[in-house]
Amino acid sequence: MAGVDFVDVRKSFGAFPVIKGVDIEIEDGEFVILVGPSGCGKSTLLRMLAGLENITAGEIRIGERVVNALPPKQRDIAMVFQNYALYPHMTVADNMAFSLMLAKSPKSEIDSRVSKAAGILGLTTLLDRYPRQLSGGQRQRVAMGRAIVRDPQVFLFDEPLSNLDAKLRVAMRAEIKELHQRLQTTTVYVTHDQIEAMTMADKIVVMHDGIVEQIGAPLDLYDNPANLFVAGFIGSPAMNMIKGRLAQDDPHAFVAPDGTHLPVARPAAAAKGRELVYGLRPEHIALDAAGIPAEVVVIEPTGYETQLIVKLGGADVTCVFRERVHVAPGETIRISIDAEHIHLFDAETGMRLFG
Ligand code: ATP
Repeated sequence: MAGVDFVDVRKSFGAFPVIKGVDIEIEDGEFVILVGPSGCGKSTLLRMLAGLENITAGEIRIGERVVNALPPKQRDIAMVFQNYALYPHMTVADNMAFSLMLAKSPKSEIDSRVSKAAGILGLTTLLDRYPRQLSGGQRQRVAMGRAIVRDPQVFLFDEPLSNLDAKLRVAMRAEIKELHQRLQTTTVYVTHDQIEAMTMADKIVVMHDGIVEQIGAPLDLYDNPANLFVAGFIGSPAMNMIKGRLAQDDPHAFVAPDGTHLPVARPAAAAKGRELVYGLRPEHIALDAAGIPAEVVVIEPTGYETQLIVKLGGADVTCVFRERVHVAPGETIRISIDAEHIHLFDAETGMRLFG
């Protein structure tokens, strides 16, 4: 096994830069997820690590080796793609054995590796089937089996769950995480789905427009987003954002454009006099008969919780309550805000201000 380092990595297609200087350190055995909206460059970064795309500038290291000029075969990696890419005319066993057969590994070793991988993935009884005789989840497992038999230094996953339905995706998420816990192989995984990133990763790299916005453990990014982009991208339902400024005579009061006052527990000195964005997670709002009035716009009960969109400070604000709330659109509820958990961002730079 080995760690992976990206050092000031850049990539342009023609004159068009898509990766604009990326530094990421991935430790041996770590499960790292590159996440970001479509077009941010995460697949390009993974393809450069795999050797499927040239590197315009910078350095990629796997373990101690700089791999910039190494062909994919010599990088000791195994990649699992979104579309599985199984050979339809080969059985599950042959699909899994294929790369080892190409490498002319001895038959006894191939058999033992395939059988071990099949055992890990619950495919032992399906080894004689063809891909068309498998469900989507089973095909995805075969694709992973093909990677496991190679016992690589690094696993690369490119949106491996996006072809599966919602329920299967949740099940496979847990399987991949468990697989990583068993094998402890360094893994780099690309997705646009922040829930996948939050639930599976040891470390998340949030990308946007060819740069890294923030790197951190999932809950660290959730609790301490560095800027408005990360704050808005991580978390579902998303963080509410209300524009305004601190009151001139009271740094503990944030004033929205319609004059509503919202509480601030720890105002940053740098926030004074600036245009700000007040960041408020839906779960940090509570029903409170003595609280701030807010008009109900939409009610979405899920059974487990109630999600409400209310008008607050001139913005549409999402709240999530564990209790059932019996109100109608147009009615006014009263809420309080957990001021310890709000964030203030500089509206101009987008950076979070620490109080
Ligand atoms: P998605 O989730 O949609 O796959 P992504 O974050 O993985 O998005 P990339 O596929 O890495 O994004 O693409 C990053 C940018 O590079 C995009 O603007 C894309 O159009 C561009 N791009 C990717 N491949 C090429 C190519 N071969 N030639 C020119 N431009 C490319």
